[in-house]
Amino acid sequence: MGVPLSQMWTVASYVLKQKLRGRKRYPLVLMLEPLFRCNLACAGCGKIQYPAHILKQQLSPEECFAAAAACGAPMVSLPGGEPLLHPQIKEIVEGLVARKKYVYLCTNAVLLREKLDLFTPSKFLTLSIHMDGQEEHHDFAVCREGVYSEAVAGIRAAVERGFRVTTNTTLFEGADPNSVRRFFDEMMDLGVEGMMVSPGYAYPKAPDQQSFLNERRNVNALFEMIFANRKGRWKFNQSPLFIEYLMGLREYECTPWGNPTYNLFGWQRPCYLIQDGYVDTFDELIDDTDWSQYGRASGNPACQQCMVHCGYEPSAVNHTFSSFGGLWATLKAMVFNRYANPAALQRLEEEKGKPHGPELALHTITINGKSVATLIAEKDTEAA
Ligand code: SF4
Ligand code: SF4
Repeated sequence: MGVPLSQMWTVASYVLKQKLRGRKRYPLVLMLEPLFRCNLACAGCGKIQYPAHILKQQLSPEECFAAAAACGAPMVSLPGGEPLLHPQIKEIVEGLVARKKYVYLCTNAVLLREKLDLFTPSKFLTLSIHMDGQEEHHDFAVCREGVYSEAVAGIRAAVERGFRVTTNTTLFEGADPNSVRRFFDEMMDLGVEGMMVSPGYAYPKAPDQQSFLNERRNVNALFEMIFANRKGRWKFNQSPLFIEYLMGLREYECTPWGNPTYNLFGWQRPCYLIQDGYVDTFDELIDDTDWSQYGRASGNPACQQCMVHCGYEPSAVNHTFSSFGGLWATLKAMVFNRYANPAALQRLEEEKGKPHGPELALHTITINGKSVATLIAEKDTEAA
């Protein structure tokens, strides 16, 4: 398992308490964005497009603690931007840990080795490293060479010093399932505790709209190749039922209130991905949002292709604790986790002959009607 028992127990008892209280909409993970600025400029990012005066601002530690108290979720994820650029990140993390929150400090790890001394290993603190695949794929996704090797060095240093370390991976159109499986091996070799994987979502603000996985069936086909015929040594820091959902083995409706988002603007409606305005308090978010407007069944076009973890992982966790059937399905998925599937294995083999990632981009990006790959081939012929 990629999640320690103490954390599983905390989450399970929290969810059961909410159910006994008859609470219909409860949060599981607070997505606390202390700032939007970053030291990278990934093409798929929807956060760094804010104007400079917004990028310069940040939440204070007190604002972070107040948000965590108002929300009450047992887990707090600190994405961004790059949280290690926050001048008071040490105080924020220490304060949340002191409040017994399971903190996931999400970082691209460019500054990790430099900032590691700020933190103390704890069962409540996990360093969640942004890794979008093997070196070539990751550096392509983050639009800078050398980031993968720096992140690997950061992971090694953090694991050596006894930190809990996980990876978070977003897969985009053109992802190479064979390479993703090799990437899982690499991360396990580094000693990470578990991996989190999610399909990308088309942010309205992201400059590179082409790169997102837009068709749900493509997502299912890709994740089936990745997660079926699984190696026993791979550990995942996410709900096994959410993984089955990604593989197309079960259906869920979104739970947008499961991972509420708080940032410089307040509580974001309705979810981490889309911004239909902000409210000042967590209670307003839960009580005054018209939740019927969101999720696939609502018909909202922004939700039709979404399968992202912040909307669907809470649905999977809720399923686990909703019935004996959900609990049984989860236990079964934990024990019988190989998912032998000869057809998926065959498709994996077929994928080996196709272009992916950076290579695929050379074939799909065109200049004056010709692909970049064709233009390079023509230049080579001329030069010869
Ligand atoms: S590392 Fe994260 S926050 Fe920074 S640019 Fe990339 S996606 Fe955006
Ligand atoms: S389906 Fe996706 S975009 Fe729509 S509310 Fe849920 S998480 Fe947000």
